[in-house]
Amino acid sequence: MEIRQFRYSSDNLSYLLYDKTSALAIDAGAVEALLAFISEQGLKLEFVTNTHLHPDHTVGNKAVLEQSGAKYLDNNTLLEKGKIRLGREDITVYHTPGHTEDSVCFHCGNILITGDTLFNGTVGNCFSGDIKAFFESAKLLASFPPETIVYAGHDYIKESMFFAKYVDPDNKEIDLFLKKYDPNHVCSTLAEEFKINPYLRFNDEKMAAILKKRPPLRRRGGRGGRSGKKIFAVGGRENESFDDKI
Ligand SMILES: [Zn+2]
Repeated sequence: MEIRQFRYSSDNLSYLLYDKTSALAIDAGAVEALLAFISEQGLKLEFVTNTHLHPDHTVGNKAVLEQSGAKYLDNNTLLEKGKIRLGREDITVYHTPGHTEDSVCFHCGNILITGDTLFNGTVGNCFSGDIKAFFESAKLLASFPPETIVYAGHDYIKESMFFAKYVDPDNKEIDLFLKKYDPNHVCSTLAEEFKINPYLRFNDEKMAAILKKRPPLRRRGGRGGRSGKKIFAVGGRENESFDDKI
C-alpha cells in the first residue's frame, strides 16, 4: 500500500492510500489535488472517509464523492467493521477517542494515519473531555513498532517543536528533526516521536526530572475538561495535564 499526502487550508493534511488500481481518501479536503492525482495515476477511488467529523476534516467529502462516485464510509461502519479492504490489503481501523469521541486512526504496513489524535511532535486537544480515554489512545498508538510512520491531520511541526524546545532546551533530537522538516512530506517515525514529543515520553527519566524541576505551567487534576487541555503524563501520573500555551 502506498500513501500520498496533500496539503490544504493553512495546515490541514489529506491522504490517499492506494495500490495499483484502488484508492481510499481520508480527510479529503484537498479536493482538486486529490482528484488530479487519482486521474493521473489511473486509480479508482473506492472510498472516502474521515479520521473524525470536525468540519475542517470533512470539508472535501461532498465534492470528492460527487466527482468520483466513491462510497462514503461513516464512523459507525468503520467501528463496526474495524477494517477497510482495499485491493488485496486490509487497512485496520482503531477507535482512538480523546480529541473527539469519534476519532479513529488507520494502520496499514508501517503507515499510521492519526488525524488529530497524534501529531508529529505533539498530541491533539482533548475536546471530548475524556482525558483518560485520550491517554489510552495515545498509549495504543505508542505501542506500534518504532519504524511506524505517523501521518497526522495537521502540520503543527514548527509550533510543536517550539514548545518541545521550551520544555527540554538541551534536546538535540529536536534540532535534528527540524532540520529534515519538509512541508511537502510531513511525517515522523514513532522512534522520533519518543525522542521529541513531550507528550509521548510517558516514563522518560529525563522528562520526569525536567518536570520535577519545572512544574507544569498550569496544573489541573483529573479530567481535562472542555477547555481542550492536553495530556502530559509522566511517570505514571496520568491525571496531570497542562496547557501548552506559552
Ligand atoms: Zn479535530
